[in-house]
Amino acid sequence: MSTTTFTRKTLGLETVEPAVTPPPAPARETSFAKKTKLGSVKSRKRDIPEGLWTKCPKCETLVFDKELDANLKVCAKCQHHFPIGARERIHSLVETCTFEEMDADMVSVDILKFKGVASYTSKLESYKKSTGLKDAVVTGIGHIGEYRAALGVMDFSFLGGSMGSVVGEKLTRLVEKATEKELPLIIISTSGGARMYEGMFSLMQMAKTCGALAYHARAKLPYISVLTHPTTAGVMASYASVGDLILAEPKAMIGFAGPRVIKDTTQAELPPGFQTAEFLLDRGLVDSIVCRTEMKPRLISYLGHMMCGKRAQQTSDRRV
Ligand SMILES: [Zn+2]
Repeated sequence: MSTTTFTRKTLGLETVEPAVTPPPAPARETSFAKKTKLGSVKSRKRDIPEGLWTKCPKCETLVFDKELDANLKVCAKCQHHFPIGARERIHSLVETCTFEEMDADMVSVDILKFKGVASYTSKLESYKKSTGLKDAVVTGIGHIGEYRAALGVMDFSFLGGSMGSVVGEKLTRLVEKATEKELPLIIISTSGGARMYEGMFSLMQMAKTCGALAYHARAKLPYISVLTHPTTAGVMASYASVGDLILAEPKAMIGFAGPRVIKDTTQAELPPGFQTAEFLLDRGLVDSIVCRTEMKPRLISYLGHMMCGKRAQQTSDRRV
């Protein structure tokens, strides 16, 4: 008996003691060493003047900012498409002084009183200041070449181009206006998906926008959807993927769930180039890949073909 109790005690002590041992001490020293390293990197960065040059992440050449702006934020050497703001994009597509903006003052409301690291209201205010936009989409009617068209352009720099109730409502009103005025519709998407700060209200926008688009389609009016980097999740699962014609910018990431989520769910290796515009073109989800610098003439050409049919349809209806 006495021998068994003795062994139990020793075993108990032996297992507990190592777990109680404190973590290794030199953690402070390593963090201090890292801080000095970071400081040296900062001093190196100061040597390059900011706001004049941008390093292309693909070909790594330094591009003069003015040249980059003149080329619609496309690297002249490797055709890498940098992100572009909604206003710059509209300026590149619409004829000067013809764009009539719609619902310019519509702003989001923090209906759920969302509180995370920062409140939704404070996030909205900071993005309004940094982007000069009221929300993640600009809508309106303007002339593209000789064609009057309804145009909706999203901006990724405003809360990741997320679709909240304002984005959904502005686009729905744009589609309804296009249906009423018998105008072709172009929506240029870039989005991380539905806006989590608005929960279910942002998910409802998927059905609302598609409902309005169904009426637009019933009126036999063309809808061109342009997918730019990145177009994902709730936006891709609603209005962005239901265009009569679906165009995409080169190398744009397009998909519903992220590649890591798909890989974990399916437990399978994803093919190379998965969720890129080129991958989807091969599989028929995208109709054509169009470089940003070519976008305007291509849109005019497509509108010419699509609206010509509409005019012929209208005249034949009248004859009947
Ligand atoms: Zn480049």
